[in-house]
Amino acid sequence: MDILRTYRQGGSVFTRKVAIFDTTLRDGEQAPGIQVSPETKLIIARALEDAGIDVIEAGFPVNSPSEKRSVELIANELSISEVTVLCRPIKEEIDLCRDILRRAERTRLHLWIATSPIHMKYKLNMSPAKVMNKTIEAIRYASGKFDTVQFSSEDATRSDLDFLSGIMREAVRAGADVVNLADTVGCALPEHMALLVTEIRSAVKDRVPVGVHCHNDLNLATANTLASIRAGAKQVDVTVTGIGERAGNASLEQLAVALLFHKKHFEVETNIRPDKLGSLCDTVVREMKLKVGLTQPLIGENAFKHESGIHVHGMLNNPMTYELVDPQVLGILGKRYILGKHTGKAAVKHFLGKKGCTLAEHELEKLTEMVKEYSIDNGPLEDEDALIDFARSNGFKLEVLTNGKVQ
Ligand code: MN
Repeated sequence: MDILRTYRQGGSVFTRKVAIFDTTLRDGEQAPGIQVSPETKLIIARALEDAGIDVIEAGFPVNSPSEKRSVELIANELSISEVTVLCRPIKEEIDLCRDILRRAERTRLHLWIATSPIHMKYKLNMSPAKVMNKTIEAIRYASGKFDTVQFSSEDATRSDLDFLSGIMREAVRAGADVVNLADTVGCALPEHMALLVTEIRSAVKDRVPVGVHCHNDLNLATANTLASIRAGAKQVDVTVTGIGERAGNASLEQLAVALLFHKKHFEVETNIRPDKLGSLCDTVVREMKLKVGLTQPLIGENAFKHESGIHVHGMLNNPMTYELVDPQVLGILGKRYILGKHTGKAAVKHFLGKKGCTLAEHELEKLTEMVKEYSIDNGPLEDEDALIDFARSNGFKLEVLTNGKVQ
């Protein structure tokens, strides 16, 4: 990963590259009701690598033999992305992860432990001192055995800031190459994440990249991730389509488009290949059998579909009037117009024109009114063929256009 190389070579900490850490195959696959075979995971991993993801979290190997096999398959196959696995701070697990990743081109161990009072007491049943000791011991043990050792604090946003700063500082001293802050229950606001990143950067004196892992329980995962980048986070966790535990994680495609659209504001670069995002999302939706909402940003059925007369009229003159990004930039095939209750005559004229047909102005107005009436009870006309059929069956005499002129 370029950023780490920059650090290791003593380069500037002000480098503006942000590494993308994708956890579709770990946090995403961990979501209730989602499970995929090792072969399917490999298909998704290849698509992630193809889209320029820097770090691919392949799974949590101690979960099951199938999970172990998934990670091995991915580790053996990928050659560009760094492959990482989630691991508890336990020596035997670290050894297992090392063995699983032995044939990977680039390896990363992702060690994690919870640091919030509620998690330490009710889940780990450990004192803060014990959490600290276990962490340091594990990082020391893992250091040098992987290309990168990442330490993540689970529930960082509900942790005591002094304790969190202390454990991050000690983690880096023990050999962590990246530290990461998880908003595990998705409670943070963008300004919280920005402050937290600033605090932890200062605690580790910018000696290693600080990353974030944001959940979407308040629909703020992408916003929190963007705020973290503004505050200097050099690695961000995402998932394709935003899947993950509960309301999911920050979505790769939304983050990518936000960074593209606001390039000047963020002044950061990533290795994401935007043109691969459409097919990557399709692959994940298909392979993980996800249900995508109608209005899901960028990938929902309506994300690039237009019906309203005023919108379609504007769009036909300049597609940027009602879209922040051309879907083709994301490798998503064309925008779509449909004809319904809110349609105007510009859209009807456009649809007729696509089939080489036209109508006199008063006829066009009449047809438009009929389409609107019809769609209220029968639903919209989805394409130009449906419009032509509708027009003919209602007795309209369509004139044929040649080179834009009526023949
Ligand atoms: Mn998570």
